[in-house]
Amino acid sequence: MKLIPSEEMALIAEKVIRDVPELNWLQESELSIGFYYSEKTKKSKGLITNGECRIPTGVYESFVPYDFIIIFYASATYFTQKQKEILMEHELSHIGIKNGKRYIVPHDFTDFKSIVDKYGSRWAEEVEE
Ligand SMILES: [Zn+2]
Repeated sequence: MKLIPSEEMALIAEKVIRDVPELNWLQESELSIGFYYSEKTKKSKGLITNGECRIPTGVYESFVPYDFIIIFYASATYFTQKQKEILMEHELSHIGIKNGKRYIVPHDFTDFKSIVDKYGSRWAEEVEE
């Protein structure tokens, strides 16, 4: 897979880290994050993968001098600026560190699109008084 370093993505990340309170901690952290674009269209379980956050391991580790890398795949090229920012917020939310060890924060949420469209993503937290 060919990865192209992306200055555009780095600028988006800078903005998102500054603007999203949950991600502000990254400003003070020592973590280094690499931003790459891939011309590949990625699919996983039949669904298009727009982006990915990973910890470079194995062969990547020798070429990629970062603690984490964030990749945007070809499908994200057609995103609006706002969509790119949301995708970036998603990928940055995967960055985790515990006792000095890097890890990928798993998704905390699984649902059907039809349910989210109708009731929002926090439907389970709403309690009628
Ligand atoms: Zn994700």
